[in-house]
Amino acid sequence: MLLITCPVTRTDELVADRRIRSVANHPTHLALSVECPACGSVHVYRTGRRWEEARRRVAEAGTRAATSAATAASAHAAQELSRA
Ligand SMILES: [Zn+2]
Repeated sequence: MLLITCPVTRTDELVADRRIRSVANHPTHLALSVECPACGSVHVYRTGRRWEEARRRVAEAGTRAATSAATAASAHAAQELSRA
């Protein structure tokens, strides 16, 4: 079984394995073509450890950049205060 979110109806659907039409093995992930029980069309879902890792790295890099920008801003504010 597989839990998917239909991009058409935006509902979560529990899908039986027999509805998986094809599985394509890519270097970073698997692409599953799934026949959607909600809308009847075929959606492609990507899954896999490396794919998840790559996504997490991107998310973490974004968070770090935001954090260091905030730190720099508060350091700058502290400098301004010490000068005043
Ligand atoms: Zn659908």
